[in-house]
Amino acid sequence: MSTDVINNVLPLTCFSEDEEMFRSSVRDFAGEQIRPCVSRMDREAKLDPELIRAFFELGLMGIAVPENYGGAGGSFFMAVQAVEELSRVDASAGVFVDVQNTLVNNALMRWGTERQKREFLPRLCRDTVGAYALSEAGSGSDAFALATRAEARDGGFELTGRKLWITNAAEADLFVIFANADPAAGYRGITAFLVERDTAGFAVGKREDKLGIRASSTCELILDECFVPRDRVLGEIGKGYKVAIETLNEGRIGIGAQMVGVARGALECAIRYAGERTQFGNPISRFQAVQFQFAEMATEVEAARLMVYNSCRLKMAGKPCVKEAAMAKYFASLAAEHVTSTSLELFGGYGYTKEYPAEKYYRDAKIGKIYEGTSNMQLQTIAKLILQE
Ligand SMILES: Cc1cc2nc3c(=O)[nH]c(=O)nc-3n(C[C@H](O)[C@H](O)[C@H](O)COP(=O)(O)OP(=O)(O)OC[C@H]3O[C@@H](n4cnc5c(N)ncnc54)[C@H](O)[C@@H]3O)c2cc1C
Repeated sequence: MSTDVINNVLPLTCFSEDEEMFRSSVRDFAGEQIRPCVSRMDREAKLDPELIRAFFELGLMGIAVPENYGGAGGSFFMAVQAVEELSRVDASAGVFVDVQNTLVNNALMRWGTERQKREFLPRLCRDTVGAYALSEAGSGSDAFALATRAEARDGGFELTGRKLWITNAAEADLFVIFANADPAAGYRGITAFLVERDTAGFAVGKREDKLGIRASSTCELILDECFVPRDRVLGEIGKGYKVAIETLNEGRIGIGAQMVGVARGALECAIRYAGERTQFGNPISRFQAVQFQFAEMATEVEAARLMVYNSCRLKMAGKPCVKEAAMAKYFASLAAEHVTSTSLELFGGYGYTKEYPAEKYYRDAKIGKIYEGTSNMQLQTIAKLILQE
């Protein structure tokens, strides 16, 4: 064994045996079971219910949840690996698993009471899809300006308002919903609630018709005097802003991983095509200009990947990771946009058609700069942190 290994100094891309086994099983699953469904799911704008069942059976919906709560007992890094490997094949599958693991399960494990954990985590690992509802029509980047109200009632709260852009809402049965219980206190009134789909006064509304990640559902939520018992408050009353911000600070590592997966998928298929496509009597991969494009793309993917893995390892070590996570998401979405765009161009005219997967990777990459904080919001976070350092 080398001294470096003995000193526990492992390169970021070296995985433990468990991590490597897990990564390769997700990769095989994505290749064998998701890939054949990708175009159809994109066309129909719907995830195949059989795949959703498989996500649960394989333990992908509770990767980092401890075994005593019904989870797979893995780590946040494994969740990131899963999102990357799934997104390499289909970014909609990637975000489906991402929201469940890095937002819903993560928030419950961190902020839930023992009773809430015992009640909801086993379900989330077994058969219940979760969604995370912060955004509204009037509050996106300015998330804490949310207008959904939580009026105190006997034994709980009555929620009234509308949520917008909620990923997994079509499939979800459990929603983490943010509402303001004390508007006079501003953001200090924001409170997180656990709301089940069949609650009276709650409904899932219109589904968005999107550019990319089309198979991932994105819907409006309608809350009309929806009564939520007091024991369904997640964290403390008035501390929902902490739940929201701290969960999203970590969740964006998952979006960085999604973008790394999308970029890898696009790059790999362009490399394959360039070996087959002949012009001027040679495969186009023989032209140095094309080789340099591949080299540049591979470098961007590698850099993004290291940033994502490092921010994840920092989180797991309990070290500050907000700046690194914001940088990773910012850079990975930039890289994904560039890599998918260049990959599409390397397919020439065919890249512009649905005959090859390049156009889908290109469409799917765009969301990385928008959700879980736009690129400007990431830059704002990074700037704030480096200027106070
Ligand atoms: C497919 C999809 C899935 C989503 N899933 C979820 C989900 O599951 N849960 C959830 O809660 N939300 C979700 N969202 C919402 C998403 O997080 C928001 O769309 C995002 O935060 C941006 O908010 P906005 O759309 O209101 O844009 P705005 O905040 O209106 O931003 C518009 C533009 O203005 C810029 N801007 C705004 N303020 C500033 C500023 N102060 N400085 C510089 N630039 C600024 C932004 O960078 C952006 O370019 C989803 C969105 C999409 C499209």
